[in-house]
Amino acid sequence: MADRSAPLDPADDPSPDELIAARPFLSRHAMDGLVLEGVPLARIAHAIGTPTWVYGAATMRARCRSLLDALRGTGLDVHAHYAVKANDHLAVLSLFAAEGLGADVVSEGELRRARAAGVPAEQIVFSGVGKSVPALRLAIAEDIEQINAESAEELEMISALASAMGHTARVALRVNPDVDAGTHEKISTGRAQDKFGIPYADAAALYARAATLPGIRPVGLAAHIGSQVETLAPYRAAFGRLAELVHTLRATGHAVETVDCGGGLGIPYRNQPVPRPEGLAGALRGAFHNLDVRVLVEPGRWLVGPAGLLLASVILVKQTEGTRFVVLDAGMNDLVRPAMYDAWHGIIPISAVDLVGPLEPADVVGPICESSDTFARQRRLPPLAPNACVAILDAGAYGAVMSSPYNARPRAAEVMVDGDRWTVIRARQALDALWADERVPTATDTDPGTAADPGTAAPRTPAPA
Ligand SMILES: *Cc1c(COP(=O)(O)O)cnc(C)c1O
Repeated sequence: MADRSAPLDPADDPSPDELIAARPFLSRHAMDGLVLEGVPLARIAHAIGTPTWVYGAATMRARCRSLLDALRGTGLDVHAHYAVKANDHLAVLSLFAAEGLGADVVSEGELRRARAAGVPAEQIVFSGVGKSVPALRLAIAEDIEQINAESAEELEMISALASAMGHTARVALRVNPDVDAGTHEKISTGRAQDKFGIPYADAAALYARAATLPGIRPVGLAAHIGSQVETLAPYRAAFGRLAELVHTLRATGHAVETVDCGGGLGIPYRNQPVPRPEGLAGALRGAFHNLDVRVLVEPGRWLVGPAGLLLASVILVKQTEGTRFVVLDAGMNDLVRPAMYDAWHGIIPISAVDLVGPLEPADVVGPICESSDTFARQRRLPPLAPNACVAILDAGAYGAVMSSPYNARPRAAEVMVDGDRWTVIRARQALDALWADERVPTATDTDPGTAADPGTAAPRTPAPA
């Protein structure tokens, strides 16, 4: 496996042409420049400005269908649940709901979003290491497909809540399979030292305990080994351990109906080889073909990542002794992945003229007062003048959802392209919306809360009723 800490050599970076060639939904036109599906990106930038997220609906549908085709090819009873946290926009959720995908949610907000987008409760799985009491109550009341319990403590909590409500919740145990997915430290979740899941050695005993608890019915097992997984070996290892546990549990008389295999399938940000959905399907078939279980998968990044990009404009180009800095109007508050995970994203100009310019190295940075606000180092790019526009590629997943208002920067606009049509699906946030919910206490305020409008200031975690 490649040493994930070794710095990437800019000499090996794919060129703008190579990046476009590897992405069938992007094309370069002699007049229109870079085109997503059927829409020239310059048209969007010109109409609504930058920074702007752009998602391709036809691209998402095509990815969804190729994933479902691969899964169907396994002959297993397999169902895909879109991991809402990758991109939780209602337009994205409704698109996947219309394709028949369920949803994997990790908070009350995501559960409500998924329901608002039309995902039926019986196709919603609830994951997460710290589900709040109100979130669990809602999940139980809505009778969602299953709740993945991540600890003995949480299992007791779900049992107590559900039995008090007179319900029986379907619960799967999320086990930590202790495999190293070979991914970035901050997105690994399946090693023993990670905070997620029930230690593998404790899982069988806890499953037996779950079977005795009121208010819950254990239906199966779950695992999620991490994100941006670039090889199949860790999947094979994790699925093998799940299958082994299914055998153990059944041998001791327990029913195991489902195995939830999580998400994590990586995408080729840097045109690197990554497994295709057929590879994941093969690993599923290999582990579960003779088990008669319902298999769930929860892809997020793979479905939306390559379908989105972030449009940004050059504010200025700053030349120092050794480095050309291209300063963009998008920053780490918009797209945090390079700062947080050392992520590599393709960056290409969108105008027809810039797309054929001679390539010279540049550091591409944002305007934020942090050195980590750097999108790329020594990236080969053409000369870019102020106001030139670039597309930061593969930004559909863990992009807009992770943005923040740091440096009092409003949320960027979002656009959905569908073939040759495009729609603004979120208006750029107005600057005064940034402080609209803020209150300045006055000298006469005595009790906490009196300065706020009591009608609008709901506590974050309501006291248990
Ligand atoms: C984040 C997450 C996913 C999705 O991961 P991707 O890498 O986006 O596919 C799936 N399941 C669980 C439990 C997660 O936490």
